[in-house]
Amino acid sequence: MSGAITTIDVQGKLPKVASGKVRDLFAVDDNTLLFVASDRISAYDVIMENGIPGKGALLTEMSIYWFKYLTQHVPGLRTHYISNELPGPISSLTTFQDRSMQVQRLRIIPIESIVRGYITGSGWSEYKKSGTVNGIAMPAGLIEGQKLPQPLWTPSTKAELGDKDENISPEKAREIIANPKIAARVEELSLQIYEAAAKRAESVGIVLADTKFEFGLDEKDEVVLVDEVLTPDSSRFWPRDTWEQNLGKAQPSFDKQFLRDWLTSNGLKGKEGVKVPEDIVQQTAAKYREACEKITGKSA
Ligand code: ATP
Ligand code: MG
Repeated sequence: MSGAITTIDVQGKLPKVASGKVRDLFAVDDNTLLFVASDRISAYDVIMENGIPGKGALLTEMSIYWFKYLTQHVPGLRTHYISNELPGPISSLTTFQDRSMQVQRLRIIPIESIVRGYITGSGWSEYKKSGTVNGIAMPAGLIEGQKLPQPLWTPSTKAELGDKDENISPEKAREIIANPKIAARVEELSLQIYEAAAKRAESVGIVLADTKFEFGLDEKDEVVLVDEVLTPDSSRFWPRDTWEQNLGKAQPSFDKQFLRDWLTSNGLKGKEGVKVPEDIVQQTAAKYREACEKITGKSA
């Protein structure tokens, strides 16, 4: 029993623009894309052989929830979200239902705009070696999972499919973005969105440890929030009530950290063609559902 949809068959009804690790993008018209989340799951930049049933729909539901929430809570924020309606040519294809959204087609800014409120993952690894996170000096004596004195903008490169994203300093990200005004706006928005989302998450008992945004530019060079947002794929969500007791070690989480831990403990980190066993699939699916229900306040 799996039921995960890992291949999105558009039956030739819309042109495919791109296929990422998780999403497939189709052209609706010159200015509009259909953004479709499959049930594929990637960890450590590698796509697993099998998917997580229901995951695409959960990611889409959460992203739409956040696009609406953030538009109301972050002054001046624009997002690429248009609607969750299926365009005419594919409106009867059930594969697309609940996992798709129409979005504005934009020029993607080629960095991953990560914000960290807590020290963990690659931020923690760097800190242990050099006392810095993305080259930014941190106070001495931090422990794993601790809240940072303030949320940090810790961008990474946006690697091509098959390559690894690399953490870079804010200066390096500004160089890649090239336009100082656009770079400053990306940083400002990332921190504002993180703050608004972390507050909302906190109110439902979730610590938003870190998260990754992408931004695009419209025809007037305005910075627009794109991609998926604040899902368990792009964020670390920890239960608030066990956070303190787990300081100094791995936190239980509502995200794919669970799958990552299974891969690491089985020596499969970064390996291609891994088939995730059914119990890990089911437990991961349950974590995604729980996160979605807590955040949106609806049962998924
Ligand atoms: P991962 O998120 O796991 O790193 P990925 O980035 O390779 O995977 P997906 O997330 O599966 O790819 O696919 C989404 C792709 O669509 C990304 O390359 C993203 O930059 C791009 N994208 C997102 N929003 C827009 C938009 N509004 N216009 C054009 N491209 C977009
Ligand atoms: Mg992506």
